[in-house]
Order: sequence, then C-alpha cells, then structure tokens
Amino acid sequence: MRKAKENTVGETLKFMLKTVRREKPSVFFLYLLAFVTDFAAKMSAIILPKFLIDELVLIIGGEPLENHLSRIIIYAALIVGIALSTNLLLNLEAQLMSVRSEWFNQYFETELSRHTMAMDFEHTEDPEALDKLSKAKDGMSWYSGGAIGILTQLYTVISNAAILLSVSFLIIITCPWLIPVQLISLVLITIFNAKNNKIEAEGFMQLSKMNRVWGYVFYQLSDFRYGKDIRLYNSADMMCEKADTISEQQVAVWKGQQREMRPNNMLINTINALRDGMSYFYIGFLAVTKAITIGDFQMCINSASNLYWSLYHIVTSVQELHKRCSYAHRYLEFTAYPAAMVKGNKPVKDGEHTIEFSHVSFKYPRSDNYVLRDVNITIRSGEHLSVVGLNGAGKTTFIKLLCRLYDVTEGEILVDGVNIKEYSEEEYRRLFAVVFQDFQLFAFSLRENIALADTPDDERIEEVLKQSGFYDDAHKLEHGLNTTLFKSFDEKGTELSGGQQQKTAISRALYRNAPVVILDEPTAALDPVAEYEIYRQFNSLVGGKTAIYISHRLSSCKFCDRIAVFADDTIKEYGTHDELADKPGGIYAEMFSAQAQYYVNCTE
Ligand code: ADP
Repeated sequence: MRKAKENTVGETLKFMLKTVRREKPSVFFLYLLAFVTDFAAKMSAIILPKFLIDELVLIIGGEPLENHLSRIIIYAALIVGIALSTNLLLNLEAQLMSVRSEWFNQYFETELSRHTMAMDFEHTEDPEALDKLSKAKDGMSWYSGGAIGILTQLYTVISNAAILLSVSFLIIITCPWLIPVQLISLVLITIFNAKNNKIEAEGFMQLSKMNRVWGYVFYQLSDFRYGKDIRLYNSADMMCEKADTISEQQVAVWKGQQREMRPNNMLINTINALRDGMSYFYIGFLAVTKAITIGDFQMCINSASNLYWSLYHIVTSVQELHKRCSYAHRYLEFTAYPAAMVKGNKPVKDGEHTIEFSHVSFKYPRSDNYVLRDVNITIRSGEHLSVVGLNGAGKTTFIKLLCRLYDVTEGEILVDGVNIKEYSEEEYRRLFAVVFQDFQLFAFSLRENIALADTPDDERIEEVLKQSGFYDDAHKLEHGLNTTLFKSFDEKGTELSGGQQQKTAISRALYRNAPVVILDEPTAALDPVAEYEIYRQFNSLVGGKTAIYISHRLSSCKFCDRIAVFADDTIKEYGTHDELADKPGGIYAEMFSAQAQYYVNCTE
C-alpha cells in the first residue's frame, strides 16, 4: 500500500518534470530566479534588523549619534532596498509563472481530448471509463493545479529547506531551546493537517461523480442541439431541478467536510498560540538576563518564526505534493487506460473483399446477456445486403462488430479470409463508409463535415452533393461550402433540416469512396415512402460496391441481393426477397405483408 503511494508521487513528479522540460523549460529558470530572490529577501529580513537595532541601542545607551549614523543609514537602506527589489522580482516571477500555468492547463486539456478521441470506442460507452475521464480532468486541473501547481509544491519544499538550514544555524548559536519547542508544535500540527487532507481526499472521490452529472446538465445540455427537445417537453425545469439536487448534494458534502475539519482547525490554532507564548517567554528571559543583545532578541524572534514557517511549509507542501500528485495521477491512469482491443498490423489488400461472420456471438462489456449468438453469414464483394429485424434485434451491434468498434466475444469475423483483428486498425476502418442512425455533424463548415479527415476537393464534394440530392440546397446557403453548421461558434451558422442533415451525412459517406458502404437506418425519421426513395437512390449511387442497409422497415429489401432477418439474437432467415417473401410462417413474410401497403406504389 505504502509503496503504491510512493509510486504515485514519484511517477507523477517524473511525468511533470519531463513534460515541463520538453514543453516549457523556461519554467525551471523562473523557479531558480524565485529561489535566489526569496532566499535573499528572507535572510536579509532576519539578519539586517539585528545590526540596525544593536546600533540604535548603543545610541540610546549614550554613545554619540555621529559614530553610528553612517552604519544606521546603510543598514536601513539595505533593508528597504532589498525588500523592495526582491518584492518586485517575485511579483514579476509570479506573473510569468501564472501565464505558464494557464498554458499547461490548456495543454493537458488538449492532450486529454486527443487521447479520448483516439481510445477504443468501447470505452466511450463504458461508465467506468467516463468516470475515469472525469477524474482525470478534475484531478489535473482544479485539484492538482496542473504542472505548475505540483512543481510549485516541490519548489516550496526545496526553498524552505534552504531557509530552515540557515535559520537553524542562527538559532543554535543564539537561542538553542527554541528548536524543540518549534519541532513539537509542528509535529502536532502536521498530524491534524493530515487528518484534514484525508477528509478532503474522501470528498474528492464523492464529488467526482456529482461534478460529472452537474457538468452534463449545465454544459452539454446548453448545446443548441438539445434546444428543441428541452423546449417542447418543457424539460428545462426538470433539468434545473436535477442540477439543484446535485448542487445540494455537493453543498452537503462540503458542509460535512467543514464540520469534520472544525475540531482539527481549533486544535491547530491552540497549538500555535501556546508555541508563540513559550518562545517569547524564553527569548525574553535571555534578553533580560543579558545572555543576548536586543538585536539578537529580534533576530531570534524572526528566526523562530521562520523556522516554524519553513518547517510548516515543508511539511504541508510534502502533504500537498502527495495529495496533488495523487489527483494528477488520475490523468496518467486515464492516458494509460488499457487498450480494449488487440491491434494488428496487416495491411488490407486492394481490390475485392469478402466478409465472413463465423459463429460470432457477442455480449456488451459488463453485460451477461448475449446480444448476438452464433451468427454466420458471408457477404461477397459487390453484394447488396439488407439487414432487417425489430428494434433491439442486434442489427446495429452487427455493424459495430463488422467495423470493429467492438470485438466479438466468441467466433471470428474474417475479411478476405483473415481475422479482422490482424489488420492494421486504421487501414481496416478505411474499408467502410458508414452512416449511423445517430450520425453526428460537427459545428464546422459544410466542406469540413463532408471531407472530414480526407483532403477537401471541392469538385468531388460538389459531385457527391449532386448524388445525394443536396446540391441545390447547399448552393442556396449564404456561404456555400464555407457555411458553418449550427450556431455554436458562428452567429451566421445554419441549422440544417433533418433531411438536409441526412443528405450531408450521406454525402460524407459517398465522399469517402470506401469499398463497403453501410446505411444504418439514418432514415428512421422519414416516412416509409421517402425512406424507400433514399434507399433506391443510394443503391444506384453505390453501384458495384458492397452495401449493407439496415432497417426495421423493408424499404431497402426489394433491390438488395440478399436479406438477413435478425431475430432471437441471431440471423433467423437469410435469402433473396423472393425466397423469403413467400416462406410460410416466415418472419420476413409476415413483416412484408404487414408493411406491404406502404410499398404498393413503390414496388410496382
Ligand atoms: P437494433 O439495431 O436491432 O435496434 P442494437 O444492436 O442497437 O439493436 O441493440 C441490440 C441490443 O443490445 C439491445 O438490447 C440494446 O439494448 C443492447 N445494447 C446496445 N448498445 C449497447 C451498449 N453499448 N451496452 C449494452 N447494451 C447495448
């Protein structure tokens, strides 16, 4: 247990030092500057007044002023000059450091987003991974203060150790008994501080989930895209109530923390008062008995206070360092989140591709129920397959497995006879252009939404816009392909209609020019006849490519080569439309006759 904690601090510190050295080494120079300045300021404030006071005492004792005046002026000028200049330098250093601190906060946020986007898809639907992400975000920013927040604690330990050594030397030669008084009070205070830290750390664990829900209500739901549902279902009040409940829970945790910490804080204050009283009594006694000069008295008081505060800062900074490192370690844990999938490196060969599901069974991570069992199907190159079945039959899951967003639980998926796990992930994914039911458009330009990672080629974009039937509408937009979708970043951004959004998503799939095209019910919101039209058009656009159409309606089936009917967690029926439509007691036959009324005109 102890070892694990040491590693947490060690690993985090090593990571921070390496990151700062790589990204902004000037931070180390600023710490060095602060160290020298701070040391000079503190030591001169302890030592110089002693000489000044001793000169003044001699004058009060009857010595002529002119014998001491020049020294008094020099000491006074030094005290004021050093205090002023070190203050200025420390202020400047603090400003420069705070700029770097902000820079690192943004740097880590960007890195975290980059990592989140690159991690295996299954983690993005995993509550544990989402919780870890939230802890990583909070841990790195608010709670640890990021790179500068952590390194400043390390700096505080080092700079205070230098002060501690220097004042200990001064105390040992003038008032040695101060050392045990300060040490005992510090040990006691450390114990009560440690108790407070533990209470705070427990609060962090409790608050992390609450912060995530609160953040969801306030940040994500303020997104324009949720606007319609929130207004039409009058759900704003419900959302705010939810946020209020969480706020109340947060406040209750904070209040509980304060209540628990109160007795510790009272004891800390009492110990402080006792220590100061005893120190003054002891040093005063030395001065009255003339064992030390009045200047020494002043220096001892100053040294005692510096001894205590430097020890205090060392101990609290070590505790704080430990605490901050364990918060920031959440970031390291998240970025090292184990990959869910085996990554292969085989290249995908060019040309035609055959897809085969061989005895594939699947259950979602953390679920005991199989969503698919013993699925067997072969999809030949250029084949158009229609996947039908009721809601929840496993159609989308089938596609997620094919696209390797999840790995099969049992069995294997082969493409050109090779298990898909052996392929390079990036190359494998390039085989597919998918329009999911819940496809996402981004608040970027229309051009960027269509080309995404591919290099935008306006001629081809125009071509796919024509193919998807969005060309005329797109050209009516004020800024054409440069029009920003949604209003999140651009006042002049446009809100596309549902149909236009679907056409944009379909254009994106066509632009990708992948050998396998998949439509996963992106048309679910349309009426059956319009849906049929889209599938028909799309089918002719896809041409000789392999195509998989999913629908719980049968609009796509008529012009597909094969139909796979998903029911009871598997492919229950498989064949051509003609084979399945007349099968007595068949699921497809039943679905088809139930829906036939919609298609009478279309299929004629
Ligand atoms: P369909 O596309 O046929 O409507 P899905 O493949 O979306 O069906 O879902 C099949 C089953 O898997 C459903 O019972 C659904 O609740 C479940 N399911 C879907 N996604 C997840 C997930 N990420 N985690 C757990 N269960 C899921």
